[in-house]
Parts: sequence; structure tokens; C-alpha cells
Amino acid sequence: MRARVAPRWRLGGEPGCSAVAALDLTEEDGGLLDRPAGPGDDALLVRRLVGAGRDRLPQPVEGHVGQFLGDGLQPGPHLFDVVRHTASSVGAVDGAPRLAGWVEGERERILDDLFQWLRVPSISAQPDHAADVRRSAEVTADLLRGAGLRNVEILETGGGPSVYGDLLGAGPDAPTALVYGHHDVQPVDPLDEWHSPPFEPVVADGPYGPECRARGAIDDKGQVLFQIEAVRGLLATGGRLPVNLKFLVEGEEEIGSPHFEALLVRERERLACDVTVVSDTDMWAPDVPSVCVGMRGMVGFEVHVRTAAADLHSGLFGGAVPNPAHVVARLVAALHDADGRVAIPGFYDDVRPLTAAEETSLATIPVDEEAWRRMAGAGRLEGEAGRSLLERIWTRPTCDVVGIGVGYTGEGIKTIVPAQGGCKVTFRLVADQTPARVAELFEPWVRAAVPEGVEVTVTLEGGFLPALTPVEHPAVAALCRAVARVWGKEPLFTRIGGSGPEETLGRVLDVPVLYLGVALPDDRFHAPNERMVLGQFWKGLLAAGELWTELGALGRAGIVGHG
Ligand SMILES: [Zn+2]
Repeated sequence: MRARVAPRWRLGGEPGCSAVAALDLTEEDGGLLDRPAGPGDDALLVRRLVGAGRDRLPQPVEGHVGQFLGDGLQPGPHLFDVVRHTASSVGAVDGAPRLAGWVEGERERILDDLFQWLRVPSISAQPDHAADVRRSAEVTADLLRGAGLRNVEILETGGGPSVYGDLLGAGPDAPTALVYGHHDVQPVDPLDEWHSPPFEPVVADGPYGPECRARGAIDDKGQVLFQIEAVRGLLATGGRLPVNLKFLVEGEEEIGSPHFEALLVRERERLACDVTVVSDTDMWAPDVPSVCVGMRGMVGFEVHVRTAAADLHSGLFGGAVPNPAHVVARLVAALHDADGRVAIPGFYDDVRPLTAAEETSLATIPVDEEAWRRMAGAGRLEGEAGRSLLERIWTRPTCDVVGIGVGYTGEGIKTIVPAQGGCKVTFRLVADQTPARVAELFEPWVRAAVPEGVEVTVTLEGGFLPALTPVEHPAVAALCRAVARVWGKEPLFTRIGGSGPEETLGRVLDVPVLYLGVALPDDRFHAPNERMVLGQFWKGLLAAGELWTELGALGRAGIVGHG
């Protein structure tokens, strides 16, 4: 049962008055809603406004997204709580960002540094690149030292190394923040789809202006570098940082951070902080800044089946022995029902339903599904029946087979019944699901789905719990002020469908997790031609400078003990 609110407009007009009149729209805007607004019109009107020109959003009338929300909402301590996210919570955002002048003289050098780092193929998934991951850690350490950080050290993990550095001169009354990012990157295949070699960064013109194209440009070297450069800028312009700052730059994020939790536990004292800031997430659009406040969790499995001791001749044995390709295909086909729901019994039992306020605020976020489809480069959109796009990518759990490997796929035909094969399956999780619980459900389900006499192994490949940040935390307001000052608009609160070690950070260090990320949804992370829009990069740098200043002004007392 899904609660539905019945919103009335309160856009400065009388409740129930024509939304067009209340919004003070002109003739040309007419036709948006030519009758008094009623239940469900929030989303309709937002969609039509988007259709009429997105630059009207997210600042209708007086600049408060919250004004798109109807009455009758009970804002809870929740993530899509756009209602409370108004100018009064954000405060004044006038004035140029303080690093704006400094950046002008540094652009070329910063891009040079970025390019050097991007030339290191630090692919954590491929063992033959282990030396490159280490070299990338050394570059990271040099960058941190060069920017003025102290106590820079490569932290061994048993796998790809992490890099630490700090600058702790702001005094005991200033908050301590930990910046998290990662220096490892995804594999680059299929290589022939890249327009330029993945580890030879180039700047090219793109739809949002100049963009840097290379593997790791946005995920995550570019985003770590804007944080490092903000430190250098603040030191160069003010002589000191307003906060005590620590950096932790991981080397295994792209393979699921297998040693990260152990590292955090081991280094808990050195990493102790009041707030952590992750720069590894995206924004809704270049002109619609947003702040992520939650991430889905994840759990992954490898399923392997063996049907015979060795491949068999299909002429001699075919028709009388099981075929692992067919076994795997049947298993994969059974993962979802006809409505696109995950068919494993009990899978949805722990999913926390959205509150009415969350549902309504989801509907206020401007979504042009067709534009989103084009951005994805997909021919059609699918998913769980009866759920909106944002629900499907942010607030609902999913299951995706990420690869199937079985039998002969080379040139021509090979007349065999293969003997073994398998698939890799990942689930995106939402509160209150856990990787452990999904594993408890998945493994017996697989075993029951595979015929007797077929050998099957299910291997857990790691997972993360979903992560949530309390939106009413004063540090979140500080982040919103920083973003608003740089982008000139208040950010929306969004979630992210992806998963990372953020939950581990928040849990082990016991601090709120903020997300200052400047990626765009179509930056092609993990795909060929990954890019970083340079305009977003420079803004990220400025926003980091603003954020440390805002958090410094809050003081430690203003942060600790909230949320
Ligand atoms: Zn990343």
C-alpha cells in the first residue's frame, strides 16, 4: 500500500487557486495548467515547466523548490525533504567564491597535474596493473604534499594502497573533516569504442563546454584533485585552513573496497573526524545543482555451474546431457517476474517504504524521462512496474546480471556441449536491506533453481549497506550554502543509485557523510569516453573552498552532537 498525499498549491496564491495564476506566469507560459490545481498536479506541473524550458527550474517564483510542494505534508527527518530546504535554512549566498581570483592564474598548471595523474592506468581490477595502482598512489601523495598537506603517507592495505595526508592547524575549536575519494579506475574495454586513448587525456568541446576525456577523469581523479587544489588555494590566499583537514584517497574503490573497512578500523585514530566529505558523486545537471544525501547499497555474487567433467561432443552427447548455457540462461531469466520485480522470495521484505513527504518531493524533481533515456543512450526504459524513474534508480532495490560466461564464442562454430559456465549478479539495495540478508535469500534460491546433478557454487563478492545522511544536519546546510554560492542556485537533494564505501566511512568513523560531487549523469563513468566537464571541475574547486570556510564558521561545536 503506497500512501498518496492530496496536495493543494500554495504558491503565493490562495489554496486551490489556479496554479498558473499563483505562479505568476505569463501568456507564453499559459497552458501549463488551465484549471485549479488538484491532487497529483505537483508532478504534472513540474513536468510541464520542464517541457516549457528547464531554466525556469529549480527556481520558480522566489527560488524555492519547496514551493512546488503541496500542503498537507508532514516533513520528516528524511532525504527528499525539499520542503525544509529553503533559503532560511541555507542563508545568504551572495558574493563571489573566495578562490575565484586565485583559480584564474592556476588553470594551466592544475590541468597539467590532472593530465599527469590520468596518464597512470591505475586499473584496480586487473592484477597486471598493480604497479600502476601503486604509481598512482605515489602521484596522489606528491599532489597532496605539493598542495601543502603534511604527514602524507601511503597506507598499505594488503591490496591497492590508500593515501593519507592532513593539515591540522586550525585548532581544537575548528571542526575536523575527512575528504574521501579514490585514485584507482575502471578497466577500459571495449577499447575500440574510445575516440581517444583512455590514458592519453585530451580536452575536447562537448555539449557543456570544454571537457577532459580520459579514464578516471571524473571517477575519481578529477574530483579528488579539485579538493586538493582547494587546499592549495586557501593556503595561498588566506595562509591557513578554516578546518582541520584529512585526506583519505583509496586505491580499491572500483573493485568494491575489499580492504577498506579493515583499514578504517586499523587507522580509526588517525582518521578521526567530525564530518566526512565524499567527492565521488554526481549532480542532476550543470544548471540544476544537487547534493546527494543517500546511496543505494550493493551486494554481488558469482554463480558457477558445472554439468560435466569436460566439454562434450554435441553430436555424440548433445540431447542427453545438461547444457550449462541453458542452465545459466534459465537462472537469469527467473531472476525477475513479468512486472520487472526481483522474483527471489522475501527480497523486498526489508525495504523501508517511502514516507508521503518523500514520495511528493521525489515528484518535484524535474525529470524528463525521454531526455534521460537519450542521455543513457538506451532504446527504451524498463524496470519495476508502477514505479517512477527516480524511484527505480534511487529508492528501489534492483538486480542486474553484469556478465554471463559460458561455452564457445570465438570465430565460427564449435560443436560442443560446454561443461561449465556462470554469471555474475549484483543487487542494488535500499534501506533497510543488508548484503548478508540478501545472500541468505539468494544462495538457496539459486540452488533450488538448478537441476539436481548440476554442480553449483555461489560466491559472495562483497557488498555495502545503503548509506543515508540526515538532511537537517547543520553541516548539510553548510554544504548547500557552498554549492549555492558557486552555482547561483540552491541545490536539490538527490539520492544516487550507485554504491560505494560511504556507508562504511560513516559507520566506522561514526560521522555524517556529506557529498560534494560534480559529475554529471552522462559523464560515461565506467564506460568508454569517460569525461569530466571542466566547468563542473572548476566549480567543484570553488565549492570546496566555500565548504571549508562554511564549516570553519560553524565551528566544531556547531557540528558535533547534531544528527
Ligand atoms: Zn568512483
